[in-house]
Amino acid sequence: MKRLIFATGNKDKMREIREIMAGLDYEILSMKEAGIELDIEENGTTFAENAMIKARAVFEQCHELVLADDSGLEVDHMDKQPGVFSHRFGGEETPYSIKNQMIIDNLDGVPDEKRTARFVCAIAAVFPDGSEVTKVAAMEGRIAYKEAGTNGFGYDPIFFLPEYGCTSAELTPEQKNEISHRGKALRLMREELENR
Ligand code: IMP
Repeated sequence: MKRLIFATGNKDKMREIREIMAGLDYEILSMKEAGIELDIEENGTTFAENAMIKARAVFEQCHELVLADDSGLEVDHMDKQPGVFSHRFGGEETPYSIKNQMIIDNLDGVPDEKRTARFVCAIAAVFPDGSEVTKVAAMEGRIAYKEAGTNGFGYDPIFFLPEYGCTSAELTPEQKNEISHRGKALRLMREELENR
């Protein structure tokens, strides 16, 4: 079986990638499982750049197939911020209840149709021959007026999905994976792996 290293230390992401890549001829390892320890500076200006920075850094250590991801929230009324700064927005240690309120406050008085936002996810791959591929996908929604829901993480409680009538924090993990930016980008990458 071939090996695939996913450049993350996040257990939830490892579970999700294992579910989505199930049935492929790849053993999927986290960085830790592959014995790689790296602190990578994500200084790109787009999700795709950051994902590729991570994938290349890990590839340099192992020269095996490496996948890496980067994701975040773009709020149209805030010129697509926090974007690649989603994790750092309002301070890295600041609880999401406060970050979420900051975004709601930024949109004070903004009507429904101008509260549009999206979660974006880029998945970058570096293959053993050095070739590179990036897949990007999004989940469209609107910024809610207050937090709702306890599933998910981060900005999920303020990410309202009009077609579901609830936030992404009110979906089950299975429902969210089916429509999420990360689920979609991972499935696009699965197709790429299947066709190689
Ligand atoms: P990263 O890709 O793990 O660096 O995630 C960047 C940040 O984007 C996270 O820390 C969250 O703030 C935000 N984010 C990305 N995906 C989601 C999601 O599915 N729900 C809520 N917040 C998210």
